[in-house]
Amino acid sequence: MKPQPKGWKEIPIAGVCWMPSEEYQTGDWRTFKPVRDLEKCTRCLLCYIYCPDSAISWNPDKGDIEFDYNFCKGCGICANECPVDAITMVFEQEEKEE
Ligand code: SF4
Ligand code: SF4
Repeated sequence: MKPQPKGWKEIPIAGVCWMPSEEYQTGDWRTFKPVRDLEKCTRCLLCYIYCPDSAISWNPDKGDIEFDYNFCKGCGICANECPVDAITMVFEQEEKEE
């Protein structure tokens, strides 16, 4: 049986992080992972601007964005804001099974 994402009633109330966000890797929270279609992506950087965890960065050497999955908590904002639907949120367990 596939694991199901927790509902809001199962999550502890008012959880507060006990260390700076740079030291606490919020990627552990992720259920869905953003996966980018390199062909569709126009490098407009909107996902970089909207990501609340700074999990997307611009690599000037590559001329491309990069995801840091150690800090991506899978909120899906980047996928929602991408103007060309280049980002798909993938259930991580399914990705591991492939
Ligand atoms: S918002 Fe979409 S098109 Fe723009 S850089 Fe991000 S993935 Fe690429
Ligand atoms: S899913 Fe959320 S945290 Fe992860 S890269 Fe996209 S906007 Fe950032």
